[in-house]
Amino acid sequence: MEPLQVGLMFWTGGVLGVDATPDEIVESVAAFGVSCGQLGVHGAADLTPGAAERWRAALDRSELEIVTAFQSFEGESYASIPICAQTVGYVPPATRREREQRTYAVSDFARSLGIPGVAAHIGCLPEDPSDAEHRAVLELVRRVCDHCARNGQTFALETGQEPAAALLEFLHAVDRPNLGVNFDPANMILYGSGEPMEALRTLREHVLTVHCKDGTWPETPGEWGRETPLGDGDVGMERYVRTLREIGYAGPLVIEREIVGEEQRADIGRAIALLSRIRA
Ligand code: MG
Repeated sequence: MEPLQVGLMFWTGGVLGVDATPDEIVESVAAFGVSCGQLGVHGAADLTPGAAERWRAALDRSELEIVTAFQSFEGESYASIPICAQTVGYVPPATRREREQRTYAVSDFARSLGIPGVAAHIGCLPEDPSDAEHRAVLELVRRVCDHCARNGQTFALETGQEPAAALLEFLHAVDRPNLGVNFDPANMILYGSGEPMEALRTLREHVLTVHCKDGTWPETPGEWGRETPLGDGDVGMERYVRTLREIGYAGPLVIEREIVGEEQRADIGRAIALLSRIRA
């Protein structure tokens, strides 16, 4: 794959968040003219061999290369930062076991499609490494990495929920060669977790893939910032792409726009044009 190729993050529910067949979804992504992407796998997505076969056939018919299976879990909510902390990833104890099992299923599903990486938001981890919940999630991430390694895959943590230094410490503590991050510069801003370019340099050796997303800083600490169309927020896309080059990143630039409907489609079109111009 060419370095810094423009790609698109899309979901098993479709680019526009509607029910559609794998063929229709892949076609709608290819219609943007991109040749790579990340497949978001919803918590309720069908992972049976029959479903995998339909996805494989749809991807084979297109030129689309999927670099990551990005999973979400049933019961997650991003309504506010406190609700996110209670519901997202491996942190909530009540769903930890089933989400671990689901991750193995997503990894196996991805392997059957030839997808070389799995990624997830693991949740808002308690900061103290001696905390029992922190230890439990760390051990779980090790098992997930080992499962992915057996499938020839990397495992990436979505950034944003903690400052880069804390994430770096966690990566070192987990200590698995196939573990890295999916760097999302907008999340650093939206969660108020730190200046994104500084974070990117801190995590430079661990960046497996990146999102191209934009947003503005929270007006009130502890509340969300606001996601914006690419180029309209505080990330600074020229600076972002320049910094990615500087750290030697050669993977795809995966556009993520977390709204649905016609506005999403229009914003994605403009984001592709912006990134194509910047990387030229
Ligand atoms: Mg993201």
